[in-house]
Amino acid sequence: MPGRIPEKFIDELMARVDIVDVIDRRVPLKKAGKDYKACCPFHEEKTPSFTVSQDKQFYHCFGCGAHGTAIGFLMQYEHLSFPEAVEDLAAAVGLSIPREAQAQAPQAGNTQELFTVLQEADRFYRRQLREHPQAHAAAEYLKSRGLSGEIAAGFGLGYAPEGWDHLLQALGADAGACQALERAGLVVKKDTSGYYDRFRNRVMFPIHDYRGRVVGFGGRVLGAGEPKYLNSPETPVFHKGREIYGLFRAREAIRREQRVVVVEGYMDVVALAQFGIDYSVATLGTATTRDHLERIFRFAPQVIFCFDGDRAGREAAWRALEQALPVLHEGRQVSFLFLPEGEDPDSLVRREGREAFERRLQQAVPLPDYLFRTLAGQVDLGRLDGRARLVELARPLLNRLPSGVLRQMILGRLSEISQVSTEKLSKLLINATKPPLIASQSRPQTGLRPPSLVRQAIALLLQHPGLAKDVSQAERLRELDMPGVPLLMSLLDVVGEQGGAANTASILERFRGSEHQYSLEKLAAWDYPGRQPDVESEFRGAMASLYRAWIKQRTEGLLRKQRLQGLDTEEKKELQGLLAEKHGAGKE
Ligand SMILES: [Zn+2]
Repeated sequence: MPGRIPEKFIDELMARVDIVDVIDRRVPLKKAGKDYKACCPFHEEKTPSFTVSQDKQFYHCFGCGAHGTAIGFLMQYEHLSFPEAVEDLAAAVGLSIPREAQAQAPQAGNTQELFTVLQEADRFYRRQLREHPQAHAAAEYLKSRGLSGEIAAGFGLGYAPEGWDHLLQALGADAGACQALERAGLVVKKDTSGYYDRFRNRVMFPIHDYRGRVVGFGGRVLGAGEPKYLNSPETPVFHKGREIYGLFRAREAIRREQRVVVVEGYMDVVALAQFGIDYSVATLGTATTRDHLERIFRFAPQVIFCFDGDRAGREAAWRALEQALPVLHEGRQVSFLFLPEGEDPDSLVRREGREAFERRLQQAVPLPDYLFRTLAGQVDLGRLDGRARLVELARPLLNRLPSGVLRQMILGRLSEISQVSTEKLSKLLINATKPPLIASQSRPQTGLRPPSLVRQAIALLLQHPGLAKDVSQAERLRELDMPGVPLLMSLLDVVGEQGGAANTASILERFRGSEHQYSLEKLAAWDYPGRQPDVESEFRGAMASLYRAWIKQRTEGLLRKQRLQGLDTEEKKELQGLLAEKHGAGKE
């Protein structure tokens, strides 16, 4: 694990980043009054209700309730983790992230070191393919697969020579360097002592992350060795459930084609590209996950899976179908192409060429057809109990679909096949009537009731941090026993620390992961219904009311004490002062 990202750095980042730039680069915005608008990227709509406030550095959709900061937007839109989103924004404004040292985990270096060592290894393997005396075996293999030098170079293919320590010799200059190689998954520690190269006698396929950095490798053995394909192990920068081979390189082609072909191996991706089908990607020896699919759907609305026609291929296809159902929002399509026995995309495209392969893609089976075909194969549709069984089998699957046209269509099909009316089917699918909760970071929005006095003060301060300068009785208010007051006080502290750079987003980021995150995000999006308030007087009014509440509380406390045990001189003086103040305040 990399060290924690320091709070101060997030403050600085939030002061430097402009959410309007960040979003506009991905979802073009139009100016509307002092805010910016667009059709919401998180739900289907025709008229824009997605609003970005430059003042607040905050976005909010009045349609689906999605909202957040620039970091939150990247997490939701690009499916990045928090550190990834921070890294992305930091790179965009030219900041580099200092990591807090973790005393209890001395072996944890930073990920930058891993990226560096992976990049060096990438260079090493590519050089071996050009220069190593035994590289002709690798070159021959690539040639036998019909690959040109240009495509091999385009994918950065390399060669790991036969032998136990070529990479170690080249990059493992000292103990520290060896440890870095091991953490990057490039060498393996021996039981006795020392290390050996993980990849030997293999053609090397570098695997790139969403920013084009090498995060791992796949290696295809030359000759008959085992295993045929070997991937980097999971490391701090390489997660097989997230990474998609070829996506970084193919992203422009995928946008152009508006579709993406998902295959099983990296050799398939390279071979397809050689034949002009440059919009394919592969998962890395793992089943397709929802995470994979969400990432892929960011680039194109149509996904075509290629699977072997055998039993294992059909099972993998069914698992992919199950993963795809929940992410099939409006306009997204999934279809399945089953290859003839004994063929893979690599062999097929070499034999048939591009046009024939693309014809096959056109004829891929749409997800609804595949779904019903598979289910119908398991029951006897000629019998009443068979049709009832079909409904039972389809029910959990349909319940995973988000509501929308596709769901209605599939429901219609099920009704046709099962001869059960759609009304009855809808009733059976009880859980499915709820709209999908797209904004996974947020809780469903309950009605926007005007918040309590404290919440009003919090909302105003959060939306207009400059108001903090008007607060004069903070120390006394800290003692006020009222729900929400401690949060208001922490908000004041954060604004104090951030000074003039504070904005809504920078404050929110301080509360990310805390119990207050969700309620604060809601308050950041909250609007005085129907009017533009004079925020300064509203805030002053709210703080004055809180101060009066404090006077009342303190006065009552002192009076109680006076009755029970009496007051010392100091307290008597205070009580007199308070009563006078209360009296004065009452006359206002
Ligand atoms: Zn929306």
